[in-house]
Amino acid sequence: MKIVRGIPEMQALRRELKGSVGLVPTMGYLHRGHMALVGKSQEFNAFTIVSMFVNPTQFGPQEDFAKYPRDEQHDIKLLEDAGVDVLFIPSADEMYPDGFDSWVEVRGITDTLEGARRTWHFLGVATICNKLFNITAPHRAYFGQKDAQQVQVVRKMVRDLNMSIEIDVVPTIREEDGLAMSSRNTYLSIDERRAAAVLYKALLKAREMCAFGERDAKKITGGMTAILQSEPLVKVDYVAITDSGSLQEIEYIQSSALVSMAVFIGRTRLIDNITVTV
Ligand code: AMP
Repeated sequence: MKIVRGIPEMQALRRELKGSVGLVPTMGYLHRGHMALVGKSQEFNAFTIVSMFVNPTQFGPQEDFAKYPRDEQHDIKLLEDAGVDVLFIPSADEMYPDGFDSWVEVRGITDTLEGARRTWHFLGVATICNKLFNITAPHRAYFGQKDAQQVQVVRKMVRDLNMSIEIDVVPTIREEDGLAMSSRNTYLSIDERRAAAVLYKALLKAREMCAFGERDAKKITGGMTAILQSEPLVKVDYVAITDSGSLQEIEYIQSSALVSMAVFIGRTRLIDNITVTV
């Protein structure tokens, strides 16, 4: 595996890759969720590039950028063992040099859910994805369903700005008790980690209510919230049922809907979602 830290070096190396290229953008501290994206990329492309960059511009001033978990040596070993071709690890100065002043703003789809609460977030996400796409020129890029709105934002950017990149989505990889794998799970104390199983239980409750014929979004989010609140360590940020394309809240589930949530457990904010189809 080639490890590249400079943008010009990455671009030069990219020019040598003859054949299809898959990109897996990550913030590192890799787990099985990330590796599922890597596996998909390797299945469909001649070369796989993984990027690891804790992108400062997608964090708010009160958020966890400084303490975001990092373990470069462990990540390098995982990716090497998996047979990844190129690992791109730029520094913040490399990506955002003095005088950097160009931003990619995706409107509309960013008004709801995560974008409504973390108003700066998708400006940082779209900008960094655009830069990574320009630097690595992939044929395909891989994203996790865990960050459902991120997928929609990136897809919209690619469509609106006519980028020749296929965006592929990989289902959420979960722990045995259903908790979605996330680098941030490492923040949880033992008690908090136990409590975190309630997120998936609440999502399954939505699926169950749907299966029993409930279509009223308020009733379903009510059932979910009751489950979440049964866990004293959990504080609900939001629980929402939205159209899976527009991400606008709906009153009744008619075909397929995104059921999503964000909760605080102690100081850790976790998100999760499932899609329900009726
Ligand atoms: P991150 O390093 O958290 O920015 O995540 C990098 C990519 O991995 C994003 O596309 C995430 O959606 C995806 N990802 C993170 N956790 C999971 C998971 N548990 N299952 C599948 N994909 C994931």
